[in-house]
Amino acid sequence: MSQSDPRRAIARTDVLLASPPLAAAAARLGRSSVRAAVAGAQDRARRGEIDPEEVAAAALAALPARASSLTPVLNATGVVVHTNIGRAPLSRAAVEAVLDATGYVDVELDLSTGARGRRGTGALAALREAVPAAQDALVVNNGAAALVLATTALAAGREVVVSRGEMVEIGDGFRLPDLIASTGARLREVGTTNRTHRQDYADAVGADTGCVLKVHPSNFRVEGFVSAAGLAELRDLRRPDGTRVPVVADIGSGLLAPDPVLPQEPDAATALRDGATIVTASGDKLLGGPQAGLVLGEQATVQQLRRHPLARALRVDKLTLAALEATVRTAASPVREALHATAEELRPRAERLARALGRDVVPVEGRVGGGGAPGVPLPGWAVELPVETVERLRRPASPDVPVVLARVEDGRGLVDVRCIPPDRDDDLLRALREALGTTGV
Ligand SMILES: *Cc1c(COP(=O)(O)O)cnc(C)c1O
Repeated sequence: MSQSDPRRAIARTDVLLASPPLAAAAARLGRSSVRAAVAGAQDRARRGEIDPEEVAAAALAALPARASSLTPVLNATGVVVHTNIGRAPLSRAAVEAVLDATGYVDVELDLSTGARGRRGTGALAALREAVPAAQDALVVNNGAAALVLATTALAAGREVVVSRGEMVEIGDGFRLPDLIASTGARLREVGTTNRTHRQDYADAVGADTGCVLKVHPSNFRVEGFVSAAGLAELRDLRRPDGTRVPVVADIGSGLLAPDPVLPQEPDAATALRDGATIVTASGDKLLGGPQAGLVLGEQATVQQLRRHPLARALRVDKLTLAALEATVRTAASPVREALHATAEELRPRAERLARALGRDVVPVEGRVGGGGAPGVPLPGWAVELPVETVERLRRPASPDVPVVLARVEDGRGLVDVRCIPPDRDDDLLRALREALGTTGV
């Protein structure tokens, strides 16, 4: 190698890794990925594709923007609780609570005495305050976990009485009969697909009954000759020895109190008032919080679940507890805002975007999503785009442009502003401009 050989001028890996920008990148993204990017850039310099002094910059340019491969998405689908993009976006208050909880935190410590405390008391207190009818609360990993824990603790080796009208599949492999079978409880089906009466339950309850389960059929509707026994009719079912049969109500969506926008959607307060012994629900559907499973209700029954060994395997981490408490205490969330946004509020936002792009607005119907409130339309407004543009929005050419998930309906691309936070409208506009410009429309 001669002195003038440019390859001699390529900086060594350890020198490059010690340079401030690459050292900072290594702290953020991990040393091995930065080392690989440096090696790639050195190879390019050896092949003469870049100058030796450009190696550090080329390595930096080749690195991803963040350590996680999860890509933030602007939700222009109009579907509020969209499972494929992480259901509920967290509120600012919840995000701040999560950040505070990322370090050491008193999640299981009483700072006033220095003794060990009960885990997650703040989140549990917030839930009890939000639902005064609940004497006690418990938080587990998700709605399915809450249901598994309830059936295991109350009915393993015994029977769970369920209406044939509630033998539901929630989605993504969640089939109620399979889930109950997995707990070692036996399913005792009563009634018919369209009609189940109190007497059907009463006839099935016996010495071997662990609990009655009422499941909200959240993702479909049956109409016509339909009847289902309400919780109030099931509250006093008794075994032959006179003991009361606990009634578990899986409400799914996680509404803590009634919401006028969704009059058909069950809520925890009403279910408990009507006679449910405990209610189970998800944290990241209509409550708008982190993924979690909530159990609310009678103290003795919640205690029975808390003391079951399975509870330890299903417990949530400090970040979930932090986000959940902040969501419940502020009673505000992006899900709530998107759900309650009216067509009149959404129209000027869609029109401003459309004007800037020389496109048209169209009235659309958003959806609650997440398997909830089927058939409840959410009237709103969207910017209409060619279908090819919708595809481009998902894969922007520049890393500085946010990824946008829009929807295609009747051969049109639709950018529904309902689930876009208003302070992101300009980011959305940038993404739309880029996608339209590069598709040549
Ligand atoms: C969504 C849902 C579940 C499952 O909850 P996850 O939090 O997704 O585990 C269970 N039951 C009903 C009625 C639901 O709607």
